[in-house]
Amino acid sequence: MEIVFLGTGSPLPDPNRAGPAMLVKAGPHHLLFDAGRGVVMRMAAAGTGPALVSGLFLTHLHSDHTTDVNDVITTRWVMSPAQNPLQVFGPVTTAGYIDATLAMLSEDISYRLAHHEDLNWAPPVLVSEVTDGVVFEADGVRVIAAPTDHAPVHPTVGYRIEHEGRSLVLAGDTVPCEGLDRLCAGADMYVQTVLRRSLVEQIPMQRFLDTMDYHSSTHQTGQTAARASVGKVVLTHMVPAPFPGTEHEWIAEVAEAYDGPVVIAEDLLVLDV
Ligand SMILES: [Zn+2]
Ligand SMILES: [Zn+2]
Repeated sequence: MEIVFLGTGSPLPDPNRAGPAMLVKAGPHHLLFDAGRGVVMRMAAAGTGPALVSGLFLTHLHSDHTTDVNDVITTRWVMSPAQNPLQVFGPVTTAGYIDATLAMLSEDISYRLAHHEDLNWAPPVLVSEVTDGVVFEADGVRVIAAPTDHAPVHPTVGYRIEHEGRSLVLAGDTVPCEGLDRLCAGADMYVQTVLRRSLVEQIPMQRFLDTMDYHSSTHQTGQTAARASVGKVVLTHMVPAPFPGTEHEWIAEVAEAYDGPVVIAEDLLVLDV
């Protein structure tokens, strides 16, 4: 199994970090997790595209994780020679989000249907709202969801992907919680969106300070990793993005609780799980 970090940014615009998105290659499947700013461009850089994915899995509906869902839908639609339904998995409320996205696209859809003789179907999107348990199983690849805690954003989910005896957890935005611990138990790799409290605390703006109560800090990430005995920790969606040369400080904070390897993701980083 392989993971490609398509976007490792956060809501803060960054020329080097696209919005949150990860591609997992497992057996014959390409699975896309979240669809933040620039996801389709980064998929092109990774040699894949929306038409090739077996599923889009959303952790939650915060805009930084979903802003380019519309691009995934449209690009898959216009680049598929035959009907190629996109299966979208996400927390309860995802169906309404997809309906609204398709409504937003309705003018574009009508233009393309009118123009192309061989295109006579609207973008087919199938939605599965997920809560807890196995949500995808095919060709030896299994995806398990569990509820996470990103309150007041609710509901939210994290995912565990299993293939050939290996396991990968994509936690999404969450503080430590029981659902996350369950997903992480014994996982080979644990990917956490993370915030560094000592830096955020210095930003004299309440709106930044607010973000501390619903994201895992570096310290909390280390604690979750240690509790679950994971094999490796990968940090992504860093708030704020690490200033070059300070990456070791982030890693040291995780290492206060966790003594395994810690990696800081960057866009288009590829890791074997
Ligand atoms: Zn969020
Ligand atoms: Zn986020």
